[in-house]
Amino acid sequence: MKRIAVFTSGGDAPGMNACIRAVVRGAVYYNLEIYGVNHGYKGLIDDDIHRLHSNSVSNILQKGGTMLKSARCDEFKTKEGRKKAYQNLKKRKIDGIIGIGGDGTFKGLSSFFEEFKIPVMGIPGTIDNDIFGTDFTIGYDSAVNTALDAIDKIRDTADSHGRIFFVEVMGKDSGHIALRSAIGGGAEAVILPEKNTNATDIINYIREDMRREKTFSIIIVAEKDSPGISIGVAEVVRKTLPDKDIRVTILGHIQRGGKPSGMDRILASTLGLAAVEALMDGHKDNMVGLINNELVFTTLKESFSKVKPLNTDLLRLVKILSI
Ligand code: ATP
Repeated sequence: MKRIAVFTSGGDAPGMNACIRAVVRGAVYYNLEIYGVNHGYKGLIDDDIHRLHSNSVSNILQKGGTMLKSARCDEFKTKEGRKKAYQNLKKRKIDGIIGIGGDGTFKGLSSFFEEFKIPVMGIPGTIDNDIFGTDFTIGYDSAVNTALDAIDKIRDTADSHGRIFFVEVMGKDSGHIALRSAIGGGAEAVILPEKNTNATDIINYIREDMRREKTFSIIIVAEKDSPGISIGVAEVVRKTLPDKDIRVTILGHIQRGGKPSGMDRILASTLGLAAVEALMDGHKDNMVGLINNELVFTTLKESFSKVKPLNTDLLRLVKILSI
């Protein structure tokens, strides 16, 4: 292993820059030539590949977004597209690649390895935390912290005006962000894709709250792959409880931006260096994650075909602590 390339792909996530920095500095430490690919798989196909050095990644550790940019690229889903990408790597004698992204990114890496046998390593970078093979993905903790910051502010208005706020958080089809935001934000209830909570359950929660004379409520709604879903839920509740002042806040993309949290910086640094060392040790089509604070390697296929279960026991916390 003499030359490796790194790219970010799919949705950006806080901590991606810290991870790029760790990959670059790790490679430099081991005397490998390191290349950055701009715009994910699109850059591989378009030959947007350039040499990186230790100082190329100065002063990025604390920044959100990704200095290598990210993109979604349909052409890479085709064999022809992947062939073009491979030829660009071959031309530069690059003999290993590291992709930082989510399950779609790992599907791409897996096909690439199967077809061209070039060693690939995946690093889980997505705010959704929906990747099997790691307790946490890079960006998840920062996204939860952003959601908590917003919930705290919304709570002030909910309290001042005695309102019920439905706060919709991201997470695609998983409820990881929603569940932790509900616990950390002291929500009365949470609607998760993994549980069939519906508007009637929420109406019952609110009625219980009314009996307990709570003057305001925060209800967290997971977007469930349909951004704006909370508007419909609130509408149903409003029809049943017309005397309640009900509002909806959709947090949206603020959850994807901003400074990475301490936890994300450390996770990103750990996984970035581990990915470089793993390529050098002969890992070929794996993802590196952290489970119980130990490095764990999972095949890429497993990482995107197995579902990471949500710890729904944590729902007890929401229920009991909002009493
Ligand atoms: P996030 O979930 O955070 O958005 P992701 O990596 O899952 O991240 P996707 O948009 O699903 O984001 O995938 C990123 C890119 O990976 C796609 O634009 C495409 O180029 C590539 N990709 C996705 N699925 C496949 C596949 N089945 N085969 C080859 N490449 C794929």
